[in-house]
Amino acid sequence: MTTHATDTPPGSRDCDLLVTARLLVTQDEARTVVADAAVAVKDGLIAAIGPQADIEAAWSAETTVALGQSCLLPGLINTHGHAAMTIFRGLEDDLPLMDWLTKHIFPVERQLTREVVYLGSLLAAAEMIRTGTTCFTDMYLFEEDTARAVDAAGLRAVLGDGIFCVPQCAYAKPDEVWPILENFAAAWTGHPRIRPGYMAHSVYLTPPDMLVRAYETACRQEAIFSLHLAETRTETRDCLRDYGRRPAAHLAALGLLSPRSLLVHCVDTDENDLALIAAAGAHVSHCPKSNLKLASGLAPVAAMRAAGINVALGTDGAASNNSLDMFSEMGFAALLHKGVTLDPLAVPAQAALDMATGNAARAIGWPELGALAVGRPADLIALDMAEPGLQPFYNPVSQAVYAACGAQVRLTMVGGKILYRDGRFATIDRSSLLREIEGVAAWVRARLV
Ligand SMILES: [Zn+2]
Repeated sequence: MTTHATDTPPGSRDCDLLVTARLLVTQDEARTVVADAAVAVKDGLIAAIGPQADIEAAWSAETTVALGQSCLLPGLINTHGHAAMTIFRGLEDDLPLMDWLTKHIFPVERQLTREVVYLGSLLAAAEMIRTGTTCFTDMYLFEEDTARAVDAAGLRAVLGDGIFCVPQCAYAKPDEVWPILENFAAAWTGHPRIRPGYMAHSVYLTPPDMLVRAYETACRQEAIFSLHLAETRTETRDCLRDYGRRPAAHLAALGLLSPRSLLVHCVDTDENDLALIAAAGAHVSHCPKSNLKLASGLAPVAAMRAAGINVALGTDGAASNNSLDMFSEMGFAALLHKGVTLDPLAVPAQAALDMATGNAARAIGWPELGALAVGRPADLIALDMAEPGLQPFYNPVSQAVYAACGAQVRLTMVGGKILYRDGRFATIDRSSLLREIEGVAAWVRARLV
């Protein structure tokens, strides 16, 4: 464990909030860990960070949040999901991807309403806040209503309606998606916590002209472009049949691979695919639990890392995971690739934490997130290290990846605002949400084919 010099000017200065804790994992460039640490928060940003004695000598605050035996970490970033799909959690399990999608999910999705999407998104927001995720990306339908839920919950997110060539509840003809995206961008661009993204579904449900238009719009709006890619062998087979190219080569041929591109899954990728992705500086969102549950296979993450690809983590939707707990996702990522490669260094604990923080921040085009440092947004979480399962304190990164679960998070803060602390949500009325979700579950059951 190391400490670093306090980065504060001399003299006492005012800040809005001081947070103190036994440990602080900064995830800064040097991966500094500070013992007996404090963070000064002002105007939603980190004004100072370092040893508690130094910070308290230099800064005064109206409120101090003393977290004692806790470990502060940057808020986790979930780089792929479909928030409102929490309404399908546990509804139908243990099916292949295409059966699951076409027989169980799509028929209900075609009847979705804005209110159902809002409530499902709010449930996802509550789960993410509870389990230490402070920012996520989302691709679904009626994203306007997901944005309303994110705004109310106080989370950060990159959101975009899924771009499909087949009719959806939100649009009867594929062309109608463009004005929806335009209106979304007009409504939310400039929001401090919500950014538009351009989310094509996949090479099999988004034809080349729509992929190109989505990417070009993302470039004009300086937003990210994301899609599911190479999720299964079937996808590769169909892409070869339809376009004569594997999915990554298809995107490369269309000119859609760049640092703006966030490629989700990349399970069925070969050496040449990885070389194309690496050369373009595109990012991968690795969703190990979803890939396992849908029996899609396992992305070659060790080879991706060796090729220099920026790999981040995502949960995918709650119907195919079935959890949005990023601690669980980090654990799976760290363990699985050791088992597959027989190399204990395939994804070390530090790499797994990087995939949920700094790598994820870069992947979603929000590089100022993902680390705790002066001038960065005050998006942080606290793990309760007084939990017997997180003792002793040898290595907080190891505890976070191999031992912790989201239920051991005791505080979640976004932009300096506490959204959850010790069992209490600040922005979400849990009991009324649970009542509403019971109603949504009855609505879903009534629509099953
Ligand atoms: Zn997905």
